[in-house]
Amino acid sequence: MILTILGSGAALPTGHRRCSAQVVNVNGFKLLIDCAEGTQDRIRYHRLKLQSFSTVLISHLHGDHFFGLPGLLSTMHLCGRTEPVDIIAPRGARQVIETIFSLTGNHVGYELRFNEMDFAEGEQRVFECACCTVDAFPLVHSVPTYGFRITEVPRGNHAPRSYAYCCDTAYTEAILPYVQGVDLLCVESTFANDLEVLATQRQHLTAGQAGQLARQAGVGELMLTHISARYKEPELLLDQARACFENTIIAADGLVKEIARR
Ligand SMILES: [Zn+2]
Ligand SMILES: [Zn+2]
Repeated sequence: MILTILGSGAALPTGHRRCSAQVVNVNGFKLLIDCAEGTQDRIRYHRLKLQSFSTVLISHLHGDHFFGLPGLLSTMHLCGRTEPVDIIAPRGARQVIETIFSLTGNHVGYELRFNEMDFAEGEQRVFECACCTVDAFPLVHSVPTYGFRITEVPRGNHAPRSYAYCCDTAYTEAILPYVQGVDLLCVESTFANDLEVLATQRQHLTAGQAGQLARQAGVGELMLTHISARYKEPELLLDQARACFENTIIAADGLVKEIARR
């Protein structure tokens, strides 16, 4: 299970951190999680084959997580794609994509299979294949937003590895049952602790709150992502999260990380 970070910044992209996108490779099956503007460029830059993606998970429809999808789907068509693409996204994604394609005279020559999420509590299995399962659960944000837990289908006697992604969200203990004990938890950490009031207003997390969630959930490792452009030296965020949960790292664009069994 290998995670590749394509974008680790918050809403404002910078030269160092682009907006949210990442790839989880589960025993050869690749999931694209979030698709900010420029994601297709990052896919090519990291030499991840564009047509090898058949499943896209979108946490929410804010532009810094979603605006790259029409371009990516269009490029897949231009490159001759015939295989379908599964898009798992909050309700409204289909209307946005179909409206863009119809008003701009674009189309794709393959099937787009939308699985739109529209539930406010509990968790739902939103995808499964021979390699992994994906369960979604609601987060707390200004628009409907979902976290994802990806679990490897067990092979032999190995314990299945698991990975959870929660971005964007305000602090909520409601997510704890869904991320309990995962091997790696990737959580947004938009602000440092001194901006907790702003974080609450904008429904984001501070680094300390991210660390607190990781500790409460008893995860193996914590990764901070969705870092505000104001933090040129993000060690501050790392220190603040580590004060609650020691085994913490910070995402960086281009980071490739093996998700290890605990
Ligand atoms: Zn965001
Ligand atoms: Zn957002």
